[in-house]
Amino acid sequence: MNGRDWQIGRILGIPIKVHVSWFLIFGFVTWSLATGYLPESIPGLSVPRYWMMGGVASLLLFGSVLLHELGHSFVALRYRIPIRQITLFIFGGIAQMHREPPGPRAEFLIAIGGPIVSFALGGLLLGLVSVAQARSGLVALGFLLGAINLQLGLFNLIPGFPLDGGRVLRAGLWAWSGDFDRATRQASIAGQGFGAALVSLGMVLLLGAATGTMPEPLAANGGWIILIGVFLFVAARASRRQAAIRSALARVAVGDLMVRDVATVSPDLSVDEAVAQHFLRHGYEGFPVAEDGRVIGMVTIHDVQSLPQALWKWRRVRDIMEPWSPAMGTAPDAPALKALEQMLREGQGRLAVVQDGRLVGLITRSGVNRFLQLRGGRRRSSAEF
Ligand SMILES: [Zn+2]
Repeated sequence: MNGRDWQIGRILGIPIKVHVSWFLIFGFVTWSLATGYLPESIPGLSVPRYWMMGGVASLLLFGSVLLHELGHSFVALRYRIPIRQITLFIFGGIAQMHREPPGPRAEFLIAIGGPIVSFALGGLLLGLVSVAQARSGLVALGFLLGAINLQLGLFNLIPGFPLDGGRVLRAGLWAWSGDFDRATRQASIAGQGFGAALVSLGMVLLLGAATGTMPEPLAANGGWIILIGVFLFVAARASRRQAAIRSALARVAVGDLMVRDVATVSPDLSVDEAVAQHFLRHGYEGFPVAEDGRVIGMVTIHDVQSLPQALWKWRRVRDIMEPWSPAMGTAPDAPALKALEQMLREGQGRLAVVQDGRLVGLITRSGVNRFLQLRGGRRRSSAEF
């Protein structure tokens, strides 16, 4: 998630974070409960009392969203997929998994884990409310929470990726075709369709409220539905592009994308000489360091920058390079997708391509991006996912 977020605790070992946009929706929900729902359903209380109850109710609402995300996380953890974090934000919550589910069955179970929690909570609360005798603040709150949990479960089952229902759809398509990236593309197209449909529905409500053919309070709902529709559409489009990139890169080998005539740097060169003869002359951001035909490390502009310029004459490349580790290299017959994932994971811009212990090429993130631009015919495709 972009922007600021704060960690508020850990549950099941997962960091729970609140994004800055969450405060907006918290304020909005508290306000609309304190000035609308609560005075209507329990008349006769003081204004501060309504605001306090509104605040408690919206905290409980977001507790419901958190439990929904924990439902997904619980199933994911059973499949040994670590959860990076759960973030609450303006449109609900996100549980970020460290990797994709291993198969369609796992995908399906992780996807329905959230809605099942919401339906169970909703059913339980509405059940309790229906047997309650008195019409108290607690009952009004229980009814509200129960109804919202049911809505949360239902809304998330809309079959458009990346909503839960879209994940269920992807699981089905994946099981059917055996092609994960293709299933993602198809489920994302459904997500774009439902996003567009929500935007249209929201516009109809807004128009209806504006022209007086529909009740006024629907206008706020209309605006909200448009926002959610836009969010779904944009998220689905991003997933679709990402899947297209993944399938394009899964089909080419590192050997097809690598630079073959690699300039290597000798470890005994002074940093000064390396800058003049390599960094300035070739314009690359990093070079493999080779000795007797073997790669012994990698030296990047970043390594040079960390050394004060006064020392460039007196230090050798060997002193500032990153010593060789398997994470710096790949093989020419490896899929380009694997190499890109490795670069992103390790935070590296390039990998040495090694065959039988010999350096045969260099694959870079910018090289992969260039391939995507040429192959995809798109101007703005990027491998920075
Ligand atoms: Zn969910």
